[in-house]
Amino acid sequence: MKLETKLVHISEPDELTGAISTPIYQTSSYVQEAPDVNKGFAYTRTANPTRKVVEQAIADLEGGIAGFAFSSGLAATDCVLKLLKQGDEVIAVNDVYGGTYRILTTVYNKFGIISKFIDTTNLENVRNAINKKTRFIWLETPTNPTLKISDIEEIAKIAKQAGALLIVDNTFLSPALQQPISLGADIVVHSGTKYLSGHGDVLSGFVVVNDQNIADELKYLQNTSGGVLSPFDSWLTLRGIQTLYLRLEKHSENAKKIAEYLLTHPKVDKVYYPGLKDHHNHDIAAKQQKNFGGMVSFSLKEDTLKAAKRFLTRTKIFLLAENLGDVRSLGSHPATMTHKSTPIEVRKETGIQDSLIRLSVGIENIDDLLNDIKQALD
Ligand SMILES: *Cc1c(COP(=O)(O)O)cnc(C)c1O
Repeated sequence: MKLETKLVHISEPDELTGAISTPIYQTSSYVQEAPDVNKGFAYTRTANPTRKVVEQAIADLEGGIAGFAFSSGLAATDCVLKLLKQGDEVIAVNDVYGGTYRILTTVYNKFGIISKFIDTTNLENVRNAINKKTRFIWLETPTNPTLKISDIEEIAKIAKQAGALLIVDNTFLSPALQQPISLGADIVVHSGTKYLSGHGDVLSGFVVVNDQNIADELKYLQNTSGGVLSPFDSWLTLRGIQTLYLRLEKHSENAKKIAEYLLTHPKVDKVYYPGLKDHHNHDIAAKQQKNFGGMVSFSLKEDTLKAAKRFLTRTKIFLLAENLGDVRSLGSHPATMTHKSTPIEVRKETGIQDSLIRLSVGIENIDDLLNDIKQALD
């Protein structure tokens, strides 16, 4: 079955009633026939029928053997990091999501876990950073906000050889556009808050694994630490997932047109979009992704915070908000929003200029979006 079809039929009709939409089992516990005799459910932290459907759905979409749903992307990340033990090392892409950087450097460092941040777009850097203690390689591709691409297949080979696990945060593309497990990754992590749910109305996180031992360990950790997705938020995410393919096609189509338009505008300096031929790793993006996604970043010739703020307060359809993957178009200013706490030298090194603007292109009519950008730039 093709992905579009699979997505629409992601949940089976309810066995008990035939309800075509998965019921929300808003219950904390389940009545048991006798002590330890139940219908597979005892307590909702351990298992819930609505959450079970969305966990199976994300596992199917990513091509893994088991999926786990959490109350946020960071709760998912946290649970995966609990697979580590003291003395283990993590190699992460240097412009990893800020929250992932923060939990590694201010929480897990206290438990003796060492993290190294490197530019994984260069495979030589990955080979040089690996040692006997390396347990995880943590990738995001494309990265935020300059949309750098790393080669999942090649890095998976390096990880395998070193006995490390490759983890890919697939939030920016979703399984509609990229399936890291099919490229050799061991674990996929998601902030379901973004494209998976897609409507800016829920916080959720997911982990998909491809190995039974890791699945058993994660099941234990999920139940033991307890940051599970609620039945209602499981249902909202399921509802969003049904239109994932349709949305990502439209997000990608609009983003490409916007990137191409920005390239021609006299006030625009650099444009970052993996779908542009001159993007540094366009070929790798074309090889491992089905399309180029809905995120576009650009900087202005007038490279000041003021110029960026002027643009972001003048758009009318692009709303200024710290999120992405919403059906609505959103704009954000990395230097003063998501990357505010990054030291200025590090910011400039990773391409986050004062005027850099990040757009999460929505699914509105392209002419309306282009007109909005044009009037704000003018
Ligand atoms: C938002 C995000 C996260 C964290 O997810 P939350 O749902 O906000 O906890 C992790 N990774 C990436 C790439 C993100 O964009």
